Amino acid sequence: MVGVSLSLPHLRNLKTCVTEWEVGTYFVSKKEFQDAVRTFAVHSGRNLKFDKNDKRRVKVICRGKKGSCESQMHCVKIPGEETWQLRRIKGKHTCSREYKLRIMNSDWLGDKLHSRVKKNSNLQLKTIVTRVHEKWNMGVCWSKAYRARGKAIDLVDGSFREQYTRIYDYAHELLRSNKESTVCVTNKPFQGNEADLEALGAVFCPHFERLYICFKGCKDSFFNCRSVIGLDGCFLKGYYGGMLLAAIGRDPNDQMLPIAYAVVEGETKESWNWFLELLIADLGGPRLCKTYTFISDQQKGLLPTMDELLPDVDQRFCVRHLYNNFRKKHPGKKLKELMWRAAKATYENAFIDAMKEIKDIREGAYEYLKNIHAKHWSKHKFTGDQKCDTLVNNMSETFNSTIIIARGKPVVTMCEDIRVYLMERWEANRQKAAILVVILIL
Ligand SMILES: [Zn+2]
Repeated sequence: MVGVSLSLPHLRNLKTCVTEWEVGTYFVSKKEFQDAVRTFAVHSGRNLKFDKNDKRRVKVICRGKKGSCESQMHCVKIPGEETWQLRRIKGKHTCSREYKLRIMNSDWLGDKLHSRVKKNSNLQLKTIVTRVHEKWNMGVCWSKAYRARGKAIDLVDGSFREQYTRIYDYAHELLRSNKESTVCVTNKPFQGNEADLEALGAVFCPHFERLYICFKGCKDSFFNCRSVIGLDGCFLKGYYGGMLLAAIGRDPNDQMLPIAYAVVEGETKESWNWFLELLIADLGGPRLCKTYTFISDQQKGLLPTMDELLPDVDQRFCVRHLYNNFRKKHPGKKLKELMWRAAKATYENAFIDAMKEIKDIREGAYEYLKNIHAKHWSKHKFTGDQKCDTLVNNMSETFNSTIIIARGKPVVTMCEDIRVYLMERWEANRQKAAILVVILIL
């Protein structure tokens, strides 16, 4: 046995040498041998199968020609060390090329798609299927392509869990490269039970709780814009869930201006309280913030927090959201039209008229709307200071839909996607503004 290993003392990388096999070749692990077999199978179209596969040996047989192809390979582990060696090759292939191979699994394909997914994380399944056909003349089903893409995305993003361990590094890097920004991370003590601690490799790690980011560039832009702030939360679709809270302003072009965002465990009074305290500090303190107008969807936990932190501050409720709640009890096209007329009323009598008409149609609907103070939803009661008469929280909705793909990614990748989006957005705005300056000078 020793003689065999001594007579061929070379280690070859079979990834680049898949067309021929040589008895005696060494592999650093079983996985390397299996990957080489898979690559060989795909390139040559041989329908190979791992017939025996355990800690000591791997036997590869060919299933071509309905099992009558007699080609076989045996690879064994060298006792006492982490090395595997190809010991025997039996028979030549008498089979022909096959189009669909089970041996090409999603792990293998995911590994091959790695660089493509890195360039484009929205790689379409159709593209994968076509690419596999063109490159290897091989068929792949949709579900395998889907799994392979998931594996490739995982490879690119790092796993969801791993990214939480790097969150402090990420926060420090943000602060280093964005001076005077605010980045805040909080954690909570280890959440597991005693059984978890007894598990192998368990550590008393604290758990990630919340992350708040407000860039100086966003803050500064806000101070030059209308003092209207939309607040909203949206679900994160990644493995660990959670929510993203965001404060969105409105720029002079009537487009959205993200100010700050935070990853939190859910929309609760505590999380809104934590987010708003940081936001208020960033936007000049409670005295200045009392002069701003906040637009919200009356989220759970937000309204009591607002009353505590900024009592009597100007608040608007998104009328589209109000109507959705109103409609559940009081449906009908006429009521919808009247409610919107009341919301859009720019002087008190117009509002009273619309409300009176609602009362004539349905008393209950009138009572429902009367209980919501008009200063929150009707234009005639809005103050003129904000130079903005918007009735809906559409800036927040736009932001949520802009980051819809990022919301499914691991935490650091998601924050990075948002940061890059913001950076590109500011740059595009700067270029537009530069053209305007040139026109003005001319
Ligand atoms: Zn064969």
